Parts: sequence; structure tokens; C-alpha cells
Amino acid sequence: MTMMNAPKADCWRASVLTLFPEMFPGPLGISLSGEAMRRGDWSLDAYDIRNHGLGRHRSVDDTPAGGGPGMVLRADVLAAAIDAVCPHGDERPRFLMSPRGRPLSQGRVRELIDGPGAVIVCGRFEGVDERVIAGRNLEEVSIGDYILSGGELGAMVMLDACVRLLPGVMGHVHSGTEESFESGMLEYPHYTRPREWEGHAIPDMLLSGNHAAIARWRQAEALRITRERRPDLLIKKTS
Ligand code: SAH
Repeated sequence: MTMMNAPKADCWRASVLTLFPEMFPGPLGISLSGEAMRRGDWSLDAYDIRNHGLGRHRSVDDTPAGGGPGMVLRADVLAAAIDAVCPHGDERPRFLMSPRGRPLSQGRVRELIDGPGAVIVCGRFEGVDERVIAGRNLEEVSIGDYILSGGELGAMVMLDACVRLLPGVMGHVHSGTEESFESGMLEYPHYTRPREWEGHAIPDMLLSGNHAAIARWRQAEALRITRERRPDLLIKKTS
């Protein structure tokens, strides 16, 4: 197991099962998530599924039953890896990155950071043997309606979304509560200096100093942008 840091005792713990542990921590080792990891606010270990591979070649996959293209990760190999990472009593929820899964949402991310951490299985090839999903109680999670070549980038997306919300990670910079999706809407537009750029001025309202009026303007802009780009969010909110 590749442990990326020395975590605090009760920190949020992430384990990733992958055929490519060298991909981690990758971007998670940089900036906010990397600093939080070095402080011990969360831990990450990347576990090589191939540790449980079979035979001289430590084989992890086989051809699909019934025929068809590609290879499928074997249930016995994957289950042995999961059992090694999550011994009995490990309370962390277990996930399988999968385009068939429930799309990852900010709401689910918020739920997760209230828990002890996450165990994430990264698929490769055509996917994993169906039996291991129920057999090891894996929740399938998708990061969007497109196909990646493996679950690793998806796991990084999911962990990045979680870690930035852990207490103290964003510090004073940001509470994270006004951002897109937190209120069921997309965020209002931001501006900063210079006051005029290529003939475009910052909206006067933002320079008025009237905080209540600015808050109303932002709310109206958030609503306008959400209506234009993601009307489905507004429908979800009222339903
Ligand atoms: N044959 C599968 C795709 C396999 S892609 C299908 O048609 O559904 C290989 C692996 O990449 C998957 O097992 C999964 O772990 C990961 N993956 C691909 N797309 C993903 C997505 N949108 N979200 C999360 N994981 C994904």
C-alpha cells in the first residue's frame, strides 16, 4: 500500500484501488488538497489491485463471458483486494467508478465528508465482473455522461470535490457555501481589477458599496444564468 502522508488519527481516510497506483496522489498532492494532506487532515492510500493477481503474470482480467470485445476485471481478484483494504469493521462507504453509476453531486459530496472517508475502486478495460458490485456492496458513481479509459481520473475528481470541503481546508479563503450547486443554482459572475478592461467596465452595482443591493443583484444574476444554462436545476429545486 502506498501511503501518501502521516495522517492525524481521526482524519478523513481515502483508499483507492487501482491498477495504476503511481497515478496517485497526482493533482491531489498539489495546492489545497496537497497541503491538507501534508497537514494530516486527510489521508490517501493507493492500493495496487495487481497485488492479488493470479499466476506468474499476476493476471487480473479475463475475456468476457458470452464473448465480445475487451477484458473484464475478475471478481475474485478484485474482491481479495477490497478485503485487504477494508477489513471487517471498516465503516467507510465503498464506491466503484462507473459510467452506469449515479452522477456525482455536491449533495453526495457533502454527505461523504460527514463520514469517515471513502474507498474507491477504479475500473479498467471493459469494466468489472458484475458479481463483485453486490458481493462487496459497491455504490456505483459516475462523473458524467462520457467514457473514460479508467476510473482513476474519476476517483481524483470525487476526492478533490470532497477534500476541499473538509473543515479547515479552504481556511478563511472561502466557505464554499455560495458556490454553484450549493444553493441549487449556478454562481453569479465575478469581476476584479482593472475597473475597465478592453472597453468593458465592471457592473456599476458592484462598485456601489450597497451590500444589500449587491446581494440582490448577485441573486438575480445567479437566477438568470441558471435559467439560461441549466433550467433543470431550477426544476429540481422546486420539485
Ligand atoms: N464498458 C464500460 C466502460 C468501461 S470504461 C461501459 O460501457 O459502461 C473503463 C472504466 O473507466 C470503468 O470501469 C470505470 O471505472 C471508469 N469510467 C469510465 N467512464 C466513467 C465515468 N463517466 N464515470 C466514472 N468512471 C468511469
